[in-house]
Amino acid sequence: MDFQMIAIRSVHDLLDASLCAVLESVDRAAALARSIQRRAPRAHKKEDRTPLTVADLAVQAVVASVLERAFPDTPLVAEENASAIEGDGGRVLAQHTLEFARTMVPALTHRELIRLLNRGTGSCTDQFWTLDPIDGTEGFLRGGHYVVSLAFVENYEPTIAMLGCPTLDLVMLARSGSGTWSGAMGTTDFERVTVSDVSTLRDARMLRSFAEAHIDVDRTRRVMQAAGIERPAVLMDSQAKHVTIAAGRADLLVRIPARADYRERIWDHAAGALAIEEAGGHVTDLDGRPLDFHTGRRFERNRGIVAANRHLHPLILDVIRACDRRSA
Ligand code: AMP
Ligand code: MG
Repeated sequence: MDFQMIAIRSVHDLLDASLCAVLESVDRAAALARSIQRRAPRAHKKEDRTPLTVADLAVQAVVASVLERAFPDTPLVAEENASAIEGDGGRVLAQHTLEFARTMVPALTHRELIRLLNRGTGSCTDQFWTLDPIDGTEGFLRGGHYVVSLAFVENYEPTIAMLGCPTLDLVMLARSGSGTWSGAMGTTDFERVTVSDVSTLRDARMLRSFAEAHIDVDRTRRVMQAAGIERPAVLMDSQAKHVTIAAGRADLLVRIPARADYRERIWDHAAGALAIEEAGGHVTDLDGRPLDFHTGRRFERNRGIVAANRHLHPLILDVIRACDRRSA
């Protein structure tokens, strides 16, 4: 058998028909997000003061619609809900969302749109989907990176990850036990990817969040210095970072939260973490603890994120521990 036959597989060999439909919806929703981004959408503010756009709502609605058809009994735990488009104040945003969502779900009504968006308020039971329709909305608005991120969580572990990455022009798929696969958007041929084998921190290519409000920039800098990492960190929004590490194009991700009481949202890491693990890497929190999916929509028992290949992960954890001891 020639090498290409082993290295490249059609998505139809990796997933059954229902999961193929879900993956296709992530791929098409990512293309929809890209076309909305080109029209410079307005930023609305949610109650927690984070931004919301017509793309967040349209993508959540179309993916929720396909999930409902393919897996009607499985709850959806998603970042958005219908509150921004309910009532008179939300009429214009609702109209724009409908226009875009109808490109994938024809004849969608206003009432159906609200119902689909509110499907995202499901509970974290023993089986659920978790969706961030636009992970990195700030990057999306700035012209930076963003990702449509969907994971299936089963018995408190992500077992399927699908990430549509318009700025990297790829869709990434991971399945526990079957590896991590990547294909160009709009295609069905996927190639297996693996993390890098860089084994010294000095040579590590590190990624960190672009948004300085999300991370402790000074402590991140101190960790890099203590680790002897020579190259400056590359700044990237969203789980584009996780995807880049899973594909072996960077080696290390350290996320030290800006506020000690900030708890990461599960949809910001579930898919990306599985993609890295299945590509041969490792993801924990800053204390080396596995991500604990028992605590609902937020990781209440974890602090920050560390993701790397298996050589670098223990090395950077040691450095983080030493820096913690020094600042204690
Ligand atoms: P990133 O671009 O890696 O910082 O990740 C984007 C994600 O950061 C968004 O999806 C938000 O859920 C999350 N986020 C929003 N506000 C904060 C915050 N204050 N600290 C940490 N993460 C945040
Ligand atoms: Mg997000």
